[in-house]
Amino acid sequence: MGLSLADRLRAGSVLGAEGYVFELERRGYIKAGPFVPEVVLDFPDAVRELHREFLRAGADVMVALTYYAHREKLRDVGREDDLEAMNRQAVRIAREVAREGDALVAGNVCNTWAYDPDDPATKQTVRAMYAEQLGWAVEEGIDFVISETNDYLGEALIALEVIRELGLPAMVTLAPTQPDQTRDGYGYADACRILAAEGAQVVGLNCDRGPQTMLPLITDIREAVDCAVAVQPVPYRTDPAAPTMETLRSPDGERAFPIALDPFYCTRFEMAHFALQARELGADYVGICCGAGPHHVRAMAEALGREVPASKYSPSMDLHPMFRADVAAKDAAFLHSWTA
Ligand SMILES: [Zn+2]
Repeated sequence: MGLSLADRLRAGSVLGAEGYVFELERRGYIKAGPFVPEVVLDFPDAVRELHREFLRAGADVMVALTYYAHREKLRDVGREDDLEAMNRQAVRIAREVAREGDALVAGNVCNTWAYDPDDPATKQTVRAMYAEQLGWAVEEGIDFVISETNDYLGEALIALEVIRELGLPAMVTLAPTQPDQTRDGYGYADACRILAAEGAQVVGLNCDRGPQTMLPLITDIREAVDCAVAVQPVPYRTDPAAPTMETLRSPDGERAFPIALDPFYCTRFEMAHFALQARELGADYVGICCGAGPHHVRAMAEALGREVPASKYSPSMDLHPMFRADVAAKDAAFLHSWTA
């Protein structure tokens, strides 16, 4: 039996890796637009492989790919009948790969797009969606639940309540799409304080913002709560002028989100630097969201002082023919074109 989430948080940083939907879309297994994880049923090996890549790169948690595998979204793509099978299989795959290493398995729910703070009836709809998804996840076997990309504190609180009723530890993170508050008007730190008071074990932010614009929000959250803090940015170079990936624009003014973000991609070195900064600010659960590649995760793990399975193949640029110390003697004829 491995260490629990609480044990791991006490022992030091927990490393998270997400962004399954973006990465599997990039690989041709998920349709951009609806972003429903049909891949779980259609190409389970592709999901297994990405879990394995993140595991080998040092991720401590295998997050079941049930993001957007909820009733509302499946209806959009005409697969409502596959709802239960998709949710169960996603957890089974995550569990199977987690056992290849020493990772925890997280059930996963997200914003539903069905919540309306001004319409009390939607609360029941959302609650029922979370209850059915997490009910199946619990039956398949999960260690805790990540409720993420929450736009509304109100919706996040519904998820938290369902998770607590199931008797599981909860990590609840907000999507910081707005400058300083949730869509129902709570400052991010305030919303995290309320979630912590309601029993979340980990609170914080994930998605939408890159490291540069997400980290400044973490300081206030760290001060507001005593529980663990999570920070999982997207690996894109957002800045004060375009603080979220949704607001990034190409030089000719075209929206880059969600499938033309490549020019803004962070290098592994930038994400390694982010991991160190996050730890410095007191974040306990340090991770990465949409856009994540295994190379980012490994660089983050190594920056945090770990050697992971994929470290066996970490760069040795001193062995590159053109970067080795004796290059001048050996490859003099090539050198000019490499240094010009
Ligand atoms: Zn994301």
